[in-house]
Amino acid sequence: MSIADNLKKIKEKLPEQVTLVAVSKTKPIGDLQSAYESGQRIFGENKIQEMTEKWESLPKDIKWHMIGHVQRNKVKYMAEYVDLIHGVDSLRLLKEINKQALKKKRVISCLLQVHIAEEETKFGLSQKELLTMVDSDDFKVLKNIKVKGLMGMATFTDDTTQVRKEFKTLKSCFDLLKTKLPDLHVLSMGMSGDYQIAIEEGSTMVRIGSSIFGARNYS
Ligand SMILES: *Cc1c(COP(=O)(O)O)cnc(C)c1O
Repeated sequence: MSIADNLKKIKEKLPEQVTLVAVSKTKPIGDLQSAYESGQRIFGENKIQEMTEKWESLPKDIKWHMIGHVQRNKVKYMAEYVDLIHGVDSLRLLKEINKQALKKKRVISCLLQVHIAEEETKFGLSQKELLTMVDSDDFKVLKNIKVKGLMGMATFTDDTTQVRKEFKTLKSCFDLLKTKLPDLHVLSMGMSGDYQIAIEEGSTMVRIGSSIFGARNYS
């Protein structure tokens, strides 16, 4: 199956309100070009340097989403062009994004990452940390960032009951936060292996890589 065929097949399964982020990390420019020619305009990357190289060589109407863990000292390299940062998990990072956005006279859209998986290794805020953060005065003064929603990753497991439970937790967190931040409208959850469950549980944005571009080779 070609990238164009894979994209078409996935899009047929997505409800209209769900946005598709094509996760192109590790993939060569030619693969992104193929997806672009099939109409895909939103790409997700997890390394700032790789994303910047791709941004430089591809058409400028592409929206670049940073889906990986962000190091504060690298925010400056994407501040000029990044469309949405999914993995914001601290006030310190948010402050740095705000600072770099101000320098570029931009408002950068962000999602706050919530820890929903059982695994210790996944980044993210607890629900309590999340609520404390958005209630703080330090958060309220940040004018060059816009929190548009939440992002989360479920445990990597075949146990769909577990995965569904974790997505439900994220959705209820989203609904709770929306009472404080009424503009919230993005719920980024679901990857190649679990996006159908995520959509059933209220996802509005799925991040799909291997089902579009094939398995990644990290060697
Ligand atoms: C790599 C990655 C994805 C895509 O994973 P696939 O299983 O290839 O669809 C989604 N979200 C994040 C945060 C990722 O790092």
